[in-house]
Amino acid sequence: MSISGMKGKVQTVLGPIDGQEMGITLPHEHVFIDMSVWFIEPEGASGKYLAEQPISRDHPDIGRFRIYPYSNRDNLRLLEEQEAVNELLAFKHAGGRTIVDNTNVNLARDPDALCRVSRATGLNIIMGSGYYVGEAQDRDFDSKSEERIADEIISDITIGVGLSKVRVGLIGELGCSWPLHDRERKVLRAAARAQKQTGIPINIHPGRHEDSPMQIIRILGDAGADLHRVIMSHMDRTPFPLQKRLEMAKAGCVLEYDVFGWEGYYPTELAVAHMPNDVQRIKEIIELAEQGFLNQVLISHDICYKTRRYTYGGHGYSHILRNVVPVMRCWSMSEEDINTIIIENPRRLFSMA
Ligand SMILES: [Zn+2]
Repeated sequence: MSISGMKGKVQTVLGPIDGQEMGITLPHEHVFIDMSVWFIEPEGASGKYLAEQPISRDHPDIGRFRIYPYSNRDNLRLLEEQEAVNELLAFKHAGGRTIVDNTNVNLARDPDALCRVSRATGLNIIMGSGYYVGEAQDRDFDSKSEERIADEIISDITIGVGLSKVRVGLIGELGCSWPLHDRERKVLRAAARAQKQTGIPINIHPGRHEDSPMQIIRILGDAGADLHRVIMSHMDRTPFPLQKRLEMAKAGCVLEYDVFGWEGYYPTELAVAHMPNDVQRIKEIIELAEQGFLNQVLISHDICYKTRRYTYGGHGYSHILRNVVPVMRCWSMSEEDINTIIIENPRRLFSMA
């Protein structure tokens, strides 16, 4: 199907569907991922020992792995197919229909496995493209020009990834650091070009600094991106004062609270310490709604390591539907507003423009 024939359609790994078929959607998850790039080896002997332990829900230190997720190598790898099926079925059984896998190049993206998981679960799966943080890229990356990266992304959208020919429905998550890496700037500009030709959304993983999102928005805007189709991830793992969030919303972009379920503490391994709880997330969303920006809010869990999965005693992919939506009702959010966030906004954004 040509790109013009795709207008209004959503591109899933098993082919195009109508936006109406998306239903309740998690816009930022990882069905498979190898996040080893974030592994932080502890200095002390006990930490080094724990770093190499396989994760299981019966491990006596499972609580510690939950608090320091980046200091265990096995925790950062979601590779097993049957586990992915079981985990996603919990989301389906809670009423979910579509999941967006934000895993892209060099993070163990697996188009064929995503197709199998989609068939086994009956869920729509949308696959990502482009590049994560500069640090995750290999030497080969630096020989690629902006044009070539844009062509690569366009080919992923129109022809499919490599020999699998499975097509992507998202540019992202594009990893950015603070300060921004030159590699990341190149990817952002290439993504804007690819978006201009294809009309699919861009998802951004911003750097851990309150000025990072606006820096990225300016780069994307200068390169011609449609900012109304730019999703700014991780609104809830760097503190953004309301004024900063409104600045992003007024620029047109979508604010994604995507670490629902990760509460109360932040791993000091990353040398930052901020993590709201779900109620604080909901309050920030209500603030945005009061300012007229409910149409620019998305929510998800961004499950990218083992201890957040059911299999290992975590909250799993059904947490928002089972536990967060009832709390939204407690805070007097209407069914209409909740559906705007979990159904209507994803449908508008993932339907090709
Ligand atoms: Zn992610």
